[in-house]
Amino acid sequence: MNRKLLDILVCPLCKGELIYRKEEKELICKADRLAYPIRDDIAVMLEDEARTLSLEEADALSKKPAHGNPFDQPAGV
Ligand SMILES: [Zn+2]
Repeated sequence: MNRKLLDILVCPLCKGELIYRKEEKELICKADRLAYPIRDDIAVMLEDEARTLSLEEADALSKKPAHGNPFDQPAGV
C-alpha cells in the first residue's frame, strides 16, 4: 500500500482519518467503526463493502496508539 495514497485517503462517510492495519489489510474509521477492505492493493472505499467493527475491536483501537508513537511508552521501563 502506497504511503502517499494512504495519507490522502479519508473515510467517505465522515471524511475522517483512517487507520491502516497491515495484517488485516483494512482501513479503519474509528468514528464510524467501519473497516474498509484492501483488495489487490486497492482500497475499497465503499460503505457497502466495509465491515462493521465489533465493540471489542473498536475498544482495542482506542487503547493502542494508531501510529505506534514511541513517546507514548512510560519512561524508565
Ligand atoms: Zn468515517
